[in-house]
Amino acid sequence: MAKEQLSVFDIFKIGVGPSSSHTLGPWRAAERFLKETDINTIASIQVNLYGSLAKTGKGHGTDIAVMLGLNGEDPVTFDTSTLHSAIDNITTTQKIKLGGQTEVTFTPATDIIFHKKESLPFHPNALKIVAILTTGATIEGTYYSIGGGFVVKDGEDASTTKQHVTLKYDINDAEDLLQNCMGAGISISQLVMENEKAWRTQQATVKGILNIWRVMQECIYRGCHADGILPGGLHVVRRAAKMNRQLLKGKPETNLTEWVAAIRQSGTDFTSIMNWISCFALAVNEENAAFGRVVTAPTNGAAGVVPAVLMYYHVFGKQTTDADIVKFMLTASQIGCLFKMGSTISAAMGGCQAEIGVSSSMAAGALTECLGGSPSQAMQAAEIAMEHHLGMTCDPIGGLVQIPCIERNTMGAIKAITASQLALQGDGEQMKVSLDAVIKTMWDTAVDMSSKYKETAEGGLAIKVPLNLPEC
Ligand code: SF4
Repeated sequence: MAKEQLSVFDIFKIGVGPSSSHTLGPWRAAERFLKETDINTIASIQVNLYGSLAKTGKGHGTDIAVMLGLNGEDPVTFDTSTLHSAIDNITTTQKIKLGGQTEVTFTPATDIIFHKKESLPFHPNALKIVAILTTGATIEGTYYSIGGGFVVKDGEDASTTKQHVTLKYDINDAEDLLQNCMGAGISISQLVMENEKAWRTQQATVKGILNIWRVMQECIYRGCHADGILPGGLHVVRRAAKMNRQLLKGKPETNLTEWVAAIRQSGTDFTSIMNWISCFALAVNEENAAFGRVVTAPTNGAAGVVPAVLMYYHVFGKQTTDADIVKFMLTASQIGCLFKMGSTISAAMGGCQAEIGVSSSMAAGALTECLGGSPSQAMQAAEIAMEHHLGMTCDPIGGLVQIPCIERNTMGAIKAITASQLALQGDGEQMKVSLDAVIKTMWDTAVDMSSKYKETAEGGLAIKVPLNLPEC
C-alpha cells in the first residue's frame, strides 16, 4: 500500500450528503474530468458507473452528484436548498452546462449508465466519463472514488496525487506516532500541528479547523430543527428535531449560541446526556441523508460520530476554547490517517467498520487527549473503539444512507465515549491489543468480507427488510 501524506483537511472535508465515496468522490471526479478537457470542444457527455457506484449509486445520489459536478457546482459552496431544482432543470430541459459555461444536450436517464453487473478491477467504486467532441472524436477518463471523498484516476498512484511535502514527523503507523510523541514529549495534537506547518501556517490551520467546526455545528443545529420525511422512498421520519424539542422541555432558543445554553440548562443527568449525544448524531446524518451540507469525518455515512462526541465535550464537558476544538480535531484526524494509511476508510472495500468504526476510533482518541489522556491512552481509546466495530458490515436498505446508517452514528459516538473512559481508567501501558494490531485486523477482515457486505446492498439488512422501493 503506497504511503500517503495526509493533512487534517484531507480527513475533514466540507461537502454535500449522503455519501463521501458515492456523492462527493464522483462529484469531484466529474469536476476533474472537465478540468482535464477543453470544455468548448465537447458536444455531448456520458457517464458510466460500475461496481458499488452502480449498485447503490441511485440511493447514494451518485447520479445527482455527477450532474452537479458536470454543471460546474462546487460541493463546498453549493446552495443545497437549490439541489432538487437544479436537477429538475437538467432533467426537464435535457441540457447541462459543463463547468457552468458550455451547454450541451444531456438526458440523465440515458446518459448516466449504471453497469450493475460490471466492476473494474482496481476499486469497486469506479466511473468512466466519456466526452464526444464536436469533431466526432471521443475522450474518456476513468476515476475511482476510494473513500472519504478521495479520487484517483485510472493508472495513477494515489500517493502521487498528493502535494509532496516533508513532514517534521514521518508517521507510518501508530507505533511511530507513539514513539515520536514520547521522544519529543508532546501530545498527538501537538505533533500533528507541527506536521500541518508543512502545508500552511499554524494560524491558517487553526482558522480552517474552526471553520470545519462551524460547519459541523450548523449541521447539528439544522438537523435538530428539521422535521419531515427523508428522500429516497423509504419514508424514514426524521427524529432529531422531535428529540430536540422533548429534551429542551420548552426552553426557548433562536440560534446556535442560545441553543447550546438551553441544552446546558435542560438537565445533565445520565439519560439526558445520552439522549443528547444520540440527538446530535441523528441530526447530522439526517441532514446527510437529505443531501444537506456535512463534513466528512472521515466519510459522510459516518459524519455524525465525530461532531456528536465533540458537541458532547463542548456542551457537557468544561467550557471549551478554540484551542480545545483544534486539539480534538487534530488528534481525530491523525487517528483517521492511520486507518487510511494502514487499512481503508472505504465501505466498498471494508464494510461499515471502515466508516463508523474509524469515526468512532477517531472520536475516542480525540476525546481522550482532550480529557487529559496521554498519547498512549488516546491510542488505547482509539484501539478499543475499533476493536468493537471489527467485522461490521455495510448493508444499507434500498442502497440509501439511512437504515442502518443514521442510528449507527449514535452507536459509534457512544462507543467512542465509553472507549475513552475505559482508556482513561488505565495507564495505556497494559494494553494487550495495539492500535496497529487492530488496524491490521480491520484490513484482514475487510479482505475476507464477502462483497455482499461492502456497500452493494446485496446482503444483511438490505435484503432482509421487504420494502417496495423504486429500483436503486
Ligand atoms: S451501512 Fe455504514 S458503511 Fe454502509 S452506507 Fe451505511 S454508514 Fe456507510
